[in-house]
This record gives sequence, C-alpha cells and structure tokens, in this order.
Amino acid sequence: MTANPADPTTPPVRLSAGDPDQGVLATGKATLVLGGEPVAFELTVPAGPVAVEDVLPIFQGLSSLLAQRAAAKAAAAGRPVSCRAGCGACCRQLVPIAPAEARALARVVEAMPEPRQSEVRARFDDAVATVSATDLFEGLTEPDERRANAGRDYFKLGVACPFLVDEACSIHPDRPLSCREYLVISSPDHCRALSAEGIEKLNLEGDPSMAVLKADLRDGWMPLIHALIFDRSAPPSSRDRTGPEILADVMARL
Ligand code: SF4
Repeated sequence: MTANPADPTTPPVRLSAGDPDQGVLATGKATLVLGGEPVAFELTVPAGPVAVEDVLPIFQGLSSLLAQRAAAKAAAAGRPVSCRAGCGACCRQLVPIAPAEARALARVVEAMPEPRQSEVRARFDDAVATVSATDLFEGLTEPDERRANAGRDYFKLGVACPFLVDEACSIHPDRPLSCREYLVISSPDHCRALSAEGIEKLNLEGDPSMAVLKADLRDGWMPLIHALIFDRSAPPSSRDRTGPEILADVMARL
C-alpha cells in the first residue's frame, strides 16, 4: 500500500467521511500505488468508534476514482467504456453488497419523499418475492461454481434493481461499490445476453468493493435486494473500531 513519495506538486486526492457536528474527525495522509504510480491521499474519518457504514463515503470516493482512472486509460487506448445512462442491462444482475452498504442504502430509501419511497419499497418486496419463489438463494452459499450459476440464474429472472428507473440508476451518487466498479468496453448486447465470452470488463487498480466486504464480513454479504430486510432484522452494526482502524483495515485489503 505504501509507496515512494507521490509527486509533491500534485495536490492530494481528498476524501472524507463523517459529520463534524456529530463527533471529532481525524485527518491523515496516505500514499497508494495505483497502477504502479504513487498517488497521495488526504483522508478524513470519524476519530472515535464507528460502524463501517460511517466510513463508507471514503470507499465510495475511492471506488469512483479507480473507475474513472480505468475508463480514462481505456479511452486513451481507443477502447472507451460502453456503459451509458439508458442502458440498465447490468442492473438485472445479482449485485453483492456488504452489510455496511445495506445500512447505507436503507438510509437512502428512508430519505426518499413519498410516493417514491413507497414505490421503491414495493419494488424491493417484489424482487425478493420473485427470487424467493426459486431455490436460487440457496446456491449463493455454495462453492464457486454453483454460485456462478446462481448469478446467471438470477439474471435470467429479469429482476430489475429496485433503484432502476427508465433504465438509469436513480441513486447514482449513492450506488453500491460493485456498481461503481462495473465498467465494460464491449457491446451492450453482450451485457443484455450475459454472455461471459463477450463481456469485456475493465480491471481496476484496486478492489474497494471486495476490500469492504472482507472488512465487514461479520454479517456476511448479501444481494442488493436484501438490503432493507437486513436493515430491519439484523442487530445494530458493531461499533468496536475507530474510523482510522476501519480505514486501515480496508486499505490493507485493496
Ligand atoms: S444501484 Fe443503480 S447502478 Fe446499481 S444495480 Fe441498482 S440501478 Fe443499477
């Protein structure tokens, strides 16, 4: 994670999480090696014990940054990203999220005005009912091959993400890490068909979604459509680590 010093003439990438009105914040500097290049960061997080979701904006910012860097490199190589607003083919895939992301999405839904909030809640209920009518969720805890099949079977059900509106993400600034990191340079036709052979996905210079999952795995991962059920039924999030400790844990797993 640490590296040779970054170019001192380039301002650091500043990412922050936490509300100064809610508690003391801590700011630190870090240098990450992204694609072999040292990049300086200035990171601000809650100083005291918090839940992983309280630090999530840092990882969302990092995830978006890595996606932008990958997209820029692909474009420079003549292979621009083909993802566009209005193409929601990938938004019918099984989106894995960490418990912290489920909590954050539940807060996003809670903040929606009516009648939109009720419509989104109904879409969550419909999606869970459709998938629960199959044995698909059982396959999610199985070995990799069965899990991969579960992903394909899920897509075949055609269950749109509850946040998909007019084939565009209606919560774009708050979308999960996996959604931020999913960029393809192949034809959208392959995404619509979910043909593994045809989909060319960009590799990012790090994997924040997986790093957060691993750092937040005490409650396991879940499909996005389970976010509201999890938020309603799971015990409150653990707050046994400080913001800097969670940050260090996730960064070490990138
Ligand atoms: S959260 Fe947004 S980007 Fe992610 S699957 Fe849902 S609609 Fe698509």
